[in-house]
Amino acid sequence: MSRFFSEKLSALEPYTPGEQPRDMVYVKLNTNESPYPPSPKALAVIEGEAAKLNLYSDPTAKSLHEAIAAHYGITADRVIASNGSDEILAFAFDAFAGGKSLAFPDVTYGFYPVFANLFGIPYTTIPLDETFTIRVEDYASIDSTVVIANPNAQTGTYLPLSKIEELVAQNPDRVVIVDEAYIDFGGETAIPLTDSYDNLLVVQTFSKSRNLAGARVGFAVGCADLIADLNRVKYSFNPYNVNRMSMAAAAEAMKDEAYFAKCTKQVIDTRAYTADELTRLGFTYPASMANFILAHTDRICGKELYEALKSKGVLVRHLSDERITDSIRITIGSREQMEVFIQKITEILEDLT
Ligand code: PMP
Repeated sequence: MSRFFSEKLSALEPYTPGEQPRDMVYVKLNTNESPYPPSPKALAVIEGEAAKLNLYSDPTAKSLHEAIAAHYGITADRVIASNGSDEILAFAFDAFAGGKSLAFPDVTYGFYPVFANLFGIPYTTIPLDETFTIRVEDYASIDSTVVIANPNAQTGTYLPLSKIEELVAQNPDRVVIVDEAYIDFGGETAIPLTDSYDNLLVVQTFSKSRNLAGARVGFAVGCADLIADLNRVKYSFNPYNVNRMSMAAAAEAMKDEAYFAKCTKQVIDTRAYTADELTRLGFTYPASMANFILAHTDRICGKELYEALKSKGVLVRHLSDERITDSIRITIGSREQMEVFIQKITEILEDLT
């Protein structure tokens, strides 16, 4: 830390992204990316936009907002795109919890406490139940802005739409942010609820189900007033927050329903295969509606298993959160990648006996 660093930020504990090692080629199952390439239609528009990189991107992101709005049957003034969903989460935290407080589950996306600390927002964590599921009742008496991931990050557990509605309806005077980064792997989006609840903001990303993690595009949907608030923050920070190439690619990815359906189905099918194999090997895991599984066995601790897999060329995620540190989080890759994973984990378990 230099002597110039803001004292206000000196206690910050930044987010640690999943590792991206370059020492060898790994079967990479550690950052919940899609194993499939972007839609060919998305790739097709990138070159044309690249040739126009001397010009700024459209600050209103009109074409992208319209593509998202058309997909969800809403008006474009209820959508705001961002540089990855992390950015819109940051804007939303600042806009709707700044000067107030936040509440989120004890095991969830690790960026929530980091953003809260960055913006000086006090927060409380609400324990998930013993099945790692959010208990909506626990939020009834909490006045803070609420942020949850559904399906939940790290655990993959999912709340049906009726439960989300209960959470949003509990207290009309607080904003509820529902982070749906993993919703397309079998869940039902809460976007339709934003027609009738002015305190609901739904956040999604192109990084998972739309195969564009490296493009960095996310978005939020809410009532027009919430979106106008977020635009005030965006235009106070970075009006050209989505670059030309990513904006055009994301709009095409949103329109390419057939490719989206094919890729998400493949992930869902491969998740079922992986879950069955893990059960066969004696692992337990919360039922996952995401593109990852949080798996546990009593035979080897999470960190050791992560290291053993890494030494065999398979990268998974080991998280240090107390309640899940005995587990590993495995991204659902292609069928071939998961077969390698199962083979390597089988070898590791065999070596234990
Ligand atoms: N929300 C959740 C729950 C996530 O797990 C992630 C990334 N892994 C994000 C948001 C951010 O995704 P991105 O910035 O790539 O859109």
